Amino acid sequence: MARVEIDENSGFCFGVVNAIRKAEEELAKSGRLYCLGDIVHNNSEVARLQQKGLITIDHDTFARLYDVKVLLRAHGEPPETYRIARENRIEIIDATCPVVLQLQRKIKQSYENSDAEKDQIVIYGKRGHAEVNGLVGQTDGHAIVIEGVDDFDRIDFSKKIRLYSQTTKSVEGLHAVVDEITRRCDGVAPEYHDTICRQVANRIPNIRKFVQCHDLILFVCGLKSSNGKVLYEECRRENPHTYLVSDVAEIDAAWLVGRKSIGICGATSTPKWLMESVARYVDEHIGE
Ligand code: SF4
Repeated sequence: MARVEIDENSGFCFGVVNAIRKAEEELAKSGRLYCLGDIVHNNSEVARLQQKGLITIDHDTFARLYDVKVLLRAHGEPPETYRIARENRIEIIDATCPVVLQLQRKIKQSYENSDAEKDQIVIYGKRGHAEVNGLVGQTDGHAIVIEGVDDFDRIDFSKKIRLYSQTTKSVEGLHAVVDEITRRCDGVAPEYHDTICRQVANRIPNIRKFVQCHDLILFVCGLKSSNGKVLYEECRRENPHTYLVSDVAEIDAAWLVGRKSIGICGATSTPKWLMESVARYVDEHIGE
């Protein structure tokens, strides 16, 4: 009899739990709420909330709305979004994660205390990602975003570098960037801040142990999740028999043939109910 186990450390982080709680509270009262961007990078969870009245909008639509309530998700937003909300009499339900909020404040303070002639704020993160846009917004758009060593030509190494990280980047990736920046710096020692969220970073050692205990891993995650990409790569490194699925329909029953132990895990944006439905599918198809 094969063993099927859901990783108890996988699933929503507190930032996502908080955003969904706020959305559900408002939906229970009014049955209608706008959300700026996907509330979580998981289509199945977005569809569940849509059924309850959540309407996902982009920034262009947001700028055309008046006198409505809009939820800002855990990733946070740049100051420009709050300015539009004030002008359009939009009531904001702010679900920015406290960890992101703290990072925004840190970057804003650093920017206000820096001298553009001598300093530059560098953010290690994914260009265009909502959280990164919110961080860049704290510097009036002046921060330089780097995704890795390939982007180093954007940096002026003769200036002082103040480096921050998107909360969902990997610690190893950040260290590699810091080492290379330090090596290239022109006499001005860089200043770096490890601003990676420990809700994400601590999951890596846990998920490594989890995937070693199983001979097949189903990693459940939406394709837009940055944190999901990091965790999925970790799983694959530890256990090459790892498959990424965003839904039960993507599971190939042939993967299950001959497996004795199947582990199901996911990202900080993966709902528990989705991992449970994957587990039910596995239970039903394992002996076929
Ligand atoms: S991963 Fe961390 S920073 Fe991002 S929403 Fe979750 S708790 Fe907040």
